[in-house]
Amino acid sequence: MANQDFLNEINKRRTFAIISHPDAGKTTITEKVLLFGNALQRAGTVKGKKSGQHAKSDWMEMEKERGISVTTSVMQFPYADCLVNLLDTPGHEDFSEDTYRTLTAVDSCLMVIDAAKGVEARTIKLMDVTRLRDTPIITFMNKLDRDTRDPIDLLDEVESVLNIKCAPITWPIGMGKEFKGVYHLLRDETILYATGQGHTIQEKRVIKGLDNPELDTAIGDYAEELRDMLELVKGASHDFNLDEFIAGELTPVFFGTAMGNFGVDHMLDGLVEWAPTPQGRETDQGKVEAKDEKFSGFVFKIQANMDPKHRDRIAFCRIVSGKYQKGMKMHQSRIGKDVRISDALTFLAGDRELLDEAYAGDIIGLHNHGSIQIGDTFTSGEKFRFAGIPNFAPELFKRIRLRDPLKQKQLLKGLIQLSEEGAVQVFRPLQNNDLIVGAVGVLQFDVVVARLKGEYNVDAMYEHINVATARWIYGKDERKVDEFRRKAEANLALDGGDNLTYIAPTMVNLSLAQERYPDIEFHQTREH
Ligand code: GDP
Repeated sequence: MANQDFLNEINKRRTFAIISHPDAGKTTITEKVLLFGNALQRAGTVKGKKSGQHAKSDWMEMEKERGISVTTSVMQFPYADCLVNLLDTPGHEDFSEDTYRTLTAVDSCLMVIDAAKGVEARTIKLMDVTRLRDTPIITFMNKLDRDTRDPIDLLDEVESVLNIKCAPITWPIGMGKEFKGVYHLLRDETILYATGQGHTIQEKRVIKGLDNPELDTAIGDYAEELRDMLELVKGASHDFNLDEFIAGELTPVFFGTAMGNFGVDHMLDGLVEWAPTPQGRETDQGKVEAKDEKFSGFVFKIQANMDPKHRDRIAFCRIVSGKYQKGMKMHQSRIGKDVRISDALTFLAGDRELLDEAYAGDIIGLHNHGSIQIGDTFTSGEKFRFAGIPNFAPELFKRIRLRDPLKQKQLLKGLIQLSEEGAVQVFRPLQNNDLIVGAVGVLQFDVVVARLKGEYNVDAMYEHINVATARWIYGKDERKVDEFRRKAEANLALDGGDNLTYIAPTMVNLSLAQERYPDIEFHQTREH
C-alpha cells in the first residue's frame, strides 16, 4: 500500500494545457488563471509572444525577442485544495510539433473559443491530437464582453464540427456592452459581471436562485428572458456527466471574458473538481499507474539554449509515477544508463528553481548535454519504455542545401540531432541525395538554420520543394512492404531515425497510393 501522504500529493495534482486558435485569448486566460493561483500579483505579466521581426541569424536573440522562456513553458500554482500544472502550448508563429506533443503530456485540456468567431482551424487540429488519448476537454467561450455569436449556435457548432457533446455549466446573460453575467446551472445562482476589474480578483455579486426577485431588480428584463432561455437550453443541450467527460465524449462549457476576468474562476472550479488526477501511461511492458511508488517519466519536449548564460538545453520530463527526489538515481531506458540527478528544475511561476521533490503529474526539467531524446523514458531502474509519445506528420516541407558543399556530413549530423530533439524532422529520399526538412510550424525552419550555424558551424539555406505531406509506412506482411518499397521508391524516404516514409507531392497522390496499396498502412504519427 502506498502511504497516504504520497497519495494525497498525487490526488491533488491537475495537469492541463490550453488549446485554442491564435487570438482566442490563451495568453489572457493564462494570466488570469495565474492571478487566481496567486502566482502573479496582478495579471498582465506573462510574457507576450507577439514580437515583430526576429533576427534570423541568432536563435537566442529570437528567443529573447519572442519572449519565450522556461518560466512560461510550465506553470505550477495552487488553486482550491489542488496543485495545478499548466503546460504552455506554443501558439502563433512558434506553433510547432512541440505544441502537439505537449498534449500527450497532460491529463486534460482547456479549449478556449472566441465566442465571436466560433470553432476555428487550429482548434480543430488540436482537438484531433487530444483524441489520440481521449483527453477530457473543458470549454471556455471567451470575449462575452463583445458582440458574440448566439450561444446556442456556438454549442451546436462545437458539437457538429468537433464531434463532442456540450454540457453548459454557466449560461451568459446578454453580451457586449450589455453583458450582465452568467447563470450557473449546477449551483443555481447568478453571478453578476462588473466591468473594469480585469486586473484583480473581483468581488463577486451572487444572487441565489433563478426565481429570486433580487435577480429582476439587478438585471431587469434580462431576468425573465433568462428564465425562458434556460428552459430551451436545458431541452436542447446535455446534462453534465462525469464519465462522459472523462472519456472525452462530453465537454462542460463555461462563458465569460478573460480580459474582464469574469468566468475564469468558474472554469477553474470545474477543472479542480472534475479533471482527472494524474493518469498512468502505457509502456512496452504494461501500464504504469501514477500511484506506483517507483519513479518513472518520459520526455516530451526539449528546449534549446533557454538560458543564454549557460547555453544549455532542458528536457521536459512528465513524471508518470512515483516521486522525484533531489539526488536520486534515474535509469535512462533507451541507452541503458543510470544517471544521478541533483539539479532538476521546477517551474513555480517566476524563475526556474532547483527543487527537492516532485510527484506524478508534475513536469521536471532535466539538463541535457546531448544524450536525451524526445520520447526517452526515465525510471528508477526498470527497463520499460513509455509508448504514445509520437512524431506528427509535418505539414510544411523545404529542401535544405549547403552554401559550402564540403560540410554535407556536419549538415546531416546536425539535422539528425535536431530531429532527435524534436526541433524539426528530416527526410532522405531513397533515390537522390536531397535533404528534406519537414515542420509543423514555419518558425521551426528559421530555428534550424540558426542552430545549424551556431552549434554545427554549417551555413545552410532552403529551396522550395513540392511536397504536401508525409506518412510513415507500416505493413504486417513484409513481402508486401518490400514490393511497395520497389514500386513506390520514387516517393519513399528515410526519416531521422531511418523509418520508411512516404513523401506525397499532393494529397491526391497520397489517396491514390493508399487505394493502390491496400496492404500498406500510411500513418500520420510515429511512436518513438
Ligand atoms: P492568444 O493569441 O490566444 O494568446 O490571445 P491573447 O490572449 O493574446 O488575446 C488576443 C487579443 O484578444 C488580445 O488583444 C486580447 O486583449 C484580446 N482579448 C482576450 N480576451 C478577451 C476578452 O475577454 N474580451 C475582449 N474584448 N478581448 C479579449
